[in-house]
Amino acid sequence: MTDNSRIPTSFGCRECPATCCKNLAMGIGKPQNKNEVDDLRWQLHFDTVKVYVRNKRWYQLVEGKCMYLGDDNRCQEYNGRPQICRRHNPPDCELYGRYYDTMISTPGELDDYLKGRG
Ligand code: SF4
Ligand code: SF4
Repeated sequence: MTDNSRIPTSFGCRECPATCCKNLAMGIGKPQNKNEVDDLRWQLHFDTVKVYVRNKRWYQLVEGKCMYLGDDNRCQEYNGRPQICRRHNPPDCELYGRYYDTMISTPGELDDYLKGRG
């Protein structure tokens, strides 16, 4: 269930601590065979790496701050920011609710998800 408790009447980034600039999310394919599952299990050994599934699409999440995020939580390269940053807007973002259907943090959670127990 989506947590809508923080959704204000008008959406905006002004009050946000720039949550989306503090992790890197990349689309990845669902692992198709034993080797790909093994590779993904290995990546999940690292405490900065997670995987999430949303609308049956898989994403890798790497925690870490963008080099252009200032101490004031503002983008220091706002006018030259990449397209992917321009496309990422509230309310379909980290601040305003759950942006994933399933979050996978460990190799065991990946095994459970693939076995239909997640
Ligand atoms: S897009 Fe969402 S997570 Fe990113 S700064 Fe705006 S409100 Fe925050
Ligand atoms: S370039 Fe700017 S908007 Fe994009 S992730 Fe970095 S700080 Fe955030």
